[in-house]
Amino acid sequence: MSDPTPGHHWQLNTVSDDYAELVIDVRDAPANTLSRTVMAELNAWLDELQAVPPRGLVIRSGKPGGFIAGADVHEFTRIRDRDEALAVIRLGQSTFERIAALPFPTLALIRGHCLGGGLELAMACDYRIAVDDPATRLALPEVKLGIHPGFGGTVRAIDLAGSLKGLEVMLTGRSLSARQARCLGLVDEALPERVCANAIHHYMTARPARRSPPRGEALLRSAPLRPLVAAVVRRQTRRKANPAHYPAPFALIDLWRHHAGDARAMLAAEAESVATLITGETSRNLVRVFKLQNRLKALGKQSDFRPRHVHVVGAGTMGGDIAAWCALQGSTVTVEDANGQALASTVQRADRLFRHRLRDYPRRLTEAADRLLPDPHGHGRRRADVVIEAIFEDEAAKQALFAELEGQVRPDTLLATNTSSIPLERIAAALQDGHRLVGLHFFNPVAKMPLVEVVHQADTPEPLLQQAMALCRRIDKLPLPVRSSPGFLVNRILMPYLLEAALLLEEGFRKEAIDLAATDFGMPVGPLELADMVGLDICLHVAEVLAGPMGLPVPRLLRERVTAGKLGRKSGEGFYRWVKGRPQRARGRVQVDRHLQERLIGKLLDEARRCLDDGIVADADLVDAGVIFGTGFAPFRSGPLHYLTTRRVKGVSEPG
Ligand code: NAD
Repeated sequence: MSDPTPGHHWQLNTVSDDYAELVIDVRDAPANTLSRTVMAELNAWLDELQAVPPRGLVIRSGKPGGFIAGADVHEFTRIRDRDEALAVIRLGQSTFERIAALPFPTLALIRGHCLGGGLELAMACDYRIAVDDPATRLALPEVKLGIHPGFGGTVRAIDLAGSLKGLEVMLTGRSLSARQARCLGLVDEALPERVCANAIHHYMTARPARRSPPRGEALLRSAPLRPLVAAVVRRQTRRKANPAHYPAPFALIDLWRHHAGDARAMLAAEAESVATLITGETSRNLVRVFKLQNRLKALGKQSDFRPRHVHVVGAGTMGGDIAAWCALQGSTVTVEDANGQALASTVQRADRLFRHRLRDYPRRLTEAADRLLPDPHGHGRRRADVVIEAIFEDEAAKQALFAELEGQVRPDTLLATNTSSIPLERIAAALQDGHRLVGLHFFNPVAKMPLVEVVHQADTPEPLLQQAMALCRRIDKLPLPVRSSPGFLVNRILMPYLLEAALLLEEGFRKEAIDLAATDFGMPVGPLELADMVGLDICLHVAEVLAGPMGLPVPRLLRERVTAGKLGRKSGEGFYRWVKGRPQRARGRVQVDRHLQERLIGKLLDEARRCLDDGIVADADLVDAGVIFGTGFAPFRSGPLHYLTTRRVKGVSEPG
C-alpha cells in the first residue's frame, strides 16, 4: 500500500486569491483511480481545507490523459465479504459528502476520461466544466461490473439529469461526450480548453446558482407515481438484460422506486445494495472480464511500433471497414481494390462511421476523411508500414498477391492477412521469407467487435508478433495471440455450436426454441439468428473448411438454404425471414428446453476445452477472453472455461 499522507497522490496548489487547486496524479500509475489509499489521502486534504478554507477550490487531474478512471477495480477482488464492502462504500460516500458540504465553491475540471467514481466525485462539486474534446468521455459504467454507482452517484445523477435521464445513463453505462453530458445536465459547461481558465474564474467569483433537479422532477418522484414509472423502466430494461443474469440494473431501479426524493435514505440503501452486488457472482465474473480485457490491452505494450501508414488490399465487407476503422483511429490509410464500386462503397460507409463517431467535431471528421485514400492502382504498397490483405477467401489468389507484394513493400513492412480459414503457412508458402506473414483476423462488424486474433506460425519471430499486437492497440482493438490452425480460436469454437443448431433444426426443433436456449443461457443472439447475420454462404464455406480437420458433419439444411439463394439477412431469408433488418419469429410463447440448451452450449464448451488442450492460445484465460470478446459469450459467466470450472465446483451437470 502506498503512502496516504498528503502530497503523495494529490497536490494542493494556490493558484490565485480566488481559488486553490487540488490536483490528483496517482503516483506510478498510467491513470488515476480511487483506491483506498487515494481516498484516505483525499480525506487528509479535506481536513486541511476545512481547517484553512480557500475562497474556492478546483479539482483537476495532473495527468494529460484523463481525469479519474473510477474506483480501483483490482481492490474489488480483494473484498472478502459484505461487511468489508459496506465499509469501503461508506468511506467513499462520506468522503464525497464532505466535498459537497465544503463551505466554499468547488468545481471539477474534466479533461479525458471521467468514469464511475471519478464522475461521482465531480458530481459532488458545486460545478463541473468538461473540456470539449473527443478524448473527454464521461460515464457511470458500474453496471458493466455488475454494480451501480455507490459513492452517492445514484442520488446526484438523478438530481442533475433528472430521474429518467439519470437512470438511463446509469442503466446503460453508456459513455458521453462533453456536449452530451452538458445537454443532460451532468456538467455545467462543455468548453474548448483555451477558454476554461476564464470560465473557472467566472464560476469561482460570480458563484452562480448550482444546478437544481429539472422541472417535473418532484412529480416524477412522488410516492404515487414512482411505482408506475419504475414498472415501465423495469420492463424496458428487461428487454435488454435478464435479472437472473444481471441483477444490478434492477437493484438500481428498486433503489429509485423506494427512495428517490429522500437523499439520506437513498444513500443508505445505495451502500447496502452495492455491498450485496459487489460480493455476488455476477459482479465477480464481470470484474474478471474487465481484467481479461486489461490483459489483452497489455499484450500490445511490448513494442513501440507506431504504424503511420496502413495499406489495405481488398475493399469488400471487411477490407473497407478495416480501412475506415484505421483512418478513424488516426492512421493514414490507402485502400486498394480493382473494383471501383467497392472503393466507392468503402468511402460511403467510412463517411457514415466518421459522422457517427465524430459528429460533434467537424474538423476531426474532415481530418479522418482526408486520411482515407482510395488507391485503385496500389501506389500505397511501397510506402506502407503495414499491409493488410482482405481479398476473397481464395488460397491461390492470396498467394499470388503476397508473392507480388513481397517484391514491392519495404523490407520492414508488416505483412498481414485477414483470412478467416486458410492456414497461415499455406499463404506464407508463396513468400520467399514466409516468416514475415502474420494473421490479423478482424471480426464482422469491424467497428463493433473489439477482438482481433493475431495469428502466428510456429516460427513467427517474437518481435513481429509484438508489432502486430501493438498495431491492434494503436487502432483500439484487443489483440489475442493465436496459433495458426484451422478456424483459429473463435471460429473453431463457434462452428460446432452453429452447426449443432442447424442439426437440431433438421431434427425438427423449432428455430425459436433453439435460439431461446442460447439467449436464455446468456448468448447475445441465438445461433440461427447469428448464422443469418454472418451469411449462410460464409458459414457454409467456413464449415466446409473446418469439417474435415474437426470431423464435423455439415448439415444438409445449411447446404440447401445456400443452394436456394437463402443466404440470411443480406438476401432477406436464411433460417429466418428478415424484414427491415429483423428476423421474423413465429408468434406464441416458447419454453426454455434444458436438454436442448445442454446439447447446444455443450458443443461450445467442449470445443473451448479442446482448444486449450491443443495449445491454440497460451492458457485458459486467453480462451475465455477470445470467446467473450470474439463472440459476446455471456460475460456474466466470465467465459466458457471459467463457467465449466464453477459448474464443476457447484456440482451442476447442465447449464444453469
Ligand atoms: P468481399 O468479397 O466482401 O471482398 C473482397 C474484395 O476483394 C472485393 O471487393 C474484391 O474486388 C477485392 N479483391 C479480390 N481480389 C483482389 C485483388 N487481387 N486485389 C485487390 N482487390 C481484390 O470479402 P470479405 O467478406 O470482405 O472477406 C475478405 C477476407 O476477410 C476473406 O479472407 C475473409 O475470409 C475474411 N473475413 C471475412 C469476414 C466476414 O464476415 N465477411 C470476417 C472475418 C474475416
